[in-house]
Amino acid sequence: MSDLFRLSPSDFVGFLRQERIRRFYLVYNPVNKHVQSSHPQLQPLAEFVFGDRRDFAEHEGLFFQVTDRYDTLQGAFVHRTCRGQAAGGVRYWTYGSVEDYLRDGLRLAKGMTHKNALAGLWWGGGKGVMARRPDVDSEDPEVRRYLYSEYGRFISSLRGCYVTAEDVGTTVADIANVFSRTRFTICVPEEWGGSGNPSIPTARGIVCAMEAALEFLKRGDLRGKAIAVQGIGNVGGPLIRFLFEKGVRKIIACDLNARLADSLRKASIGLDLEIRTVSCGDDSIFREECDIFSPNATGAVLNPRTIPLLKTKIVCGAANNQLEDPGRDDSALLDRGIVYVPDFLANRMGIVNSANEQYGYITNDPLSERHLARDWEYSVFQTTLRVLGESKETGEPTGRIAVRQAETLSLELHPIFGHRGRQIIDSLVADRWS
Ligand code: NAD
Repeated sequence: MSDLFRLSPSDFVGFLRQERIRRFYLVYNPVNKHVQSSHPQLQPLAEFVFGDRRDFAEHEGLFFQVTDRYDTLQGAFVHRTCRGQAAGGVRYWTYGSVEDYLRDGLRLAKGMTHKNALAGLWWGGGKGVMARRPDVDSEDPEVRRYLYSEYGRFISSLRGCYVTAEDVGTTVADIANVFSRTRFTICVPEEWGGSGNPSIPTARGIVCAMEAALEFLKRGDLRGKAIAVQGIGNVGGPLIRFLFEKGVRKIIACDLNARLADSLRKASIGLDLEIRTVSCGDDSIFREECDIFSPNATGAVLNPRTIPLLKTKIVCGAANNQLEDPGRDDSALLDRGIVYVPDFLANRMGIVNSANEQYGYITNDPLSERHLARDWEYSVFQTTLRVLGESKETGEPTGRIAVRQAETLSLELHPIFGHRGRQIIDSLVADRWS
């Protein structure tokens, strides 16, 4: 079948069952520069991935399995492992087609390579993706326990070329189930010796990036500034608290969730905080006159509809993939004279916070804290200054510059283990993993 990528994930699983395939891979061969599949009947899928110029970037290996119960497609997308094991969270999401599923994994894995490298972490980039089925009750704790335990078993079988973590649709409780079957996971619950919830460090990282952007524009520090915040969840809530501690004058915030808005309102009596409960599609927050606009809700919020509305000098927040179309929207912000701090630079502290958890736990871990310091070369502050500085010099948008700097760093070899991830993948292929 040549158009496997057009099938829904459920129909694709049906095809795999019919072909008696439980596990398969699509692996890039750097010698003949082609993607090879584990099974001849899946080679059309390898050709589809190889031919994709938008999201495929010589990803080293893509591995998949179908679970025995609940027929769920689970994947591990390894992009690049020069700096170390491919690290990135596992997403549990609904996809209309195999194409959408593959593209999301490819794009997210590449994004993790960039985030990890720009943060100076000795990690490569990867991502896990599990396809939600409409006929499976994904909220049933028993279903989740099974699916995430199976995912853990799958990750163990990959011998450490990919290390998984929490992501959209996956909770710390799910990671506990992954951890019950593999040691190749981070974001392990605190009671099991892990680093727990990363949102507070993420919010602290956003504050550092904001301070760097203000300094770059010679607008002083956060004192006396007005900030518009979209989304007051795990990151946005603490961010507001930190900003007031830094002396901001006024915050205008919004969220879809009225309960969150009410509790934040009660906790901030006496501060100049205006919180609105909005409905989907309400774009009033983009129109607020402010020094910094901070997106902390969902992705793709910066686009041709919203960018012209902005009345700010800086955009800096935690939401992943803020630009609907990076090439287009990055330039649009630059053209409007708005400084955009690339999301994967500003929101790195989530992965930084868990990056070293296998090496033990230290209060105020210096390896984590230096990312929030002013002077360390790879700190959020210094990296932001470097990216914004190069953008000013070259006239190129900041996102493009950050990706370029990250690409260069991502090709550096791990000082001890070299390109071991690639060797692991080669050994999986040689040992007929599938
Ligand atoms: P969250 O789900 O706790 O909070 C997001 C909030 O945004 C929710 O309260 C939701 O109601 C609100 N929201 C959604 N759409 C909205 C809209 N149109 N207008 C206003 N509010 C809206 O998520 P979080 O953990 O706070 O993460 C926020 C963003 O940052 C996400 O994009 C996430 O992927 C990214 N991120 C988070 C971390 C972390 O450590 N939590 C790390 C890196 C990146």
